Amino acid sequence: AISIRNLKKSFGSNEVLKDISLEVATGEVVCVIGPSGSGKSTLLRCVNLLEEPTSGQVFVGADEMTDPDVDLDGVRRRIGMVFQSFNLFPHLTVLENLTVAQTKVLKRSRAQAREVARHNLERVGMAHKEDAYPAQLSGGQQQRVAIARSLSMDPELMLFDEPTSALDPELVGEVLAVMKSLAAEGMTMMIVTHEMAFAREVAHRVVFMDDGYVVEAGTAADVIGNPQEARTRSFLHRVL
Ligand code: ATP
Ligand code: MG
Repeated sequence: AISIRNLKKSFGSNEVLKDISLEVATGEVVCVIGPSGSGKSTLLRCVNLLEEPTSGQVFVGADEMTDPDVDLDGVRRRIGMVFQSFNLFPHLTVLENLTVAQTKVLKRSRAQAREVARHNLERVGMAHKEDAYPAQLSGGQQQRVAIARSLSMDPELMLFDEPTSALDPELVGEVLAVMKSLAAEGMTMMIVTHEMAFAREVAHRVVFMDDGYVVEAGTAADVIGNPQEARTRSFLHRVL
């Protein structure tokens, strides 16, 4: 679970997050939507402290990320993160991409790491490509491998920052399908996305951000289907 309490973040004099409070319960899928520059990525990056909040608190499970004494690496290990760009190691095969952090960070044996890797490649429909190099794969395939790599670290929650926005339109569906199956398995997920149909179908809750504020939050049916705020309506008007 994630708990964000009165979070503020400034870059110099630019206040990008203005008093954000947000909970993601265990097993919950929360989609964050909003216009470019509204602070979505910054919010996600504050969860694992890739950005340091200016004030406020972030909890991951029982651990406070904003506590100066927290074991940051230890908590980050429990958080999977998938970005718009796939970030696979180009000189490693698919299987090697999935095993390297398992052996180095989690100290798993090579055999055990391979077993976990193959299981997760199976989950994302990429088992047949374990010997391929990233450049030999489509964008959608690379992103599914990146998700499998995250899963191989047994994360207790996953953060996604626009995982499909770098993909050709015909490849978006296969990645969303993988995320949907993770949701069905009860994975806790916080997902920044522009895919409104996906958010409507999969999100337990949708959060609309604008100008560093959470303007509106609720079920997808409420926030996307029946928005109460003028800013939400105008955003949806532009993207739907
Ligand atoms: P997009 O939909 O385009 O990805 P976003 O909602 O993810 O936008 P952020 O990337 O969080 O928006 O950016 C919010 C604001 O913070 C922007 O004004 C951006 O210029 C600023 N910002 C983000 N990262 C930094 C940084 N490292 N240094 C300075 N300003 C930053
Ligand atoms: Mg962003």
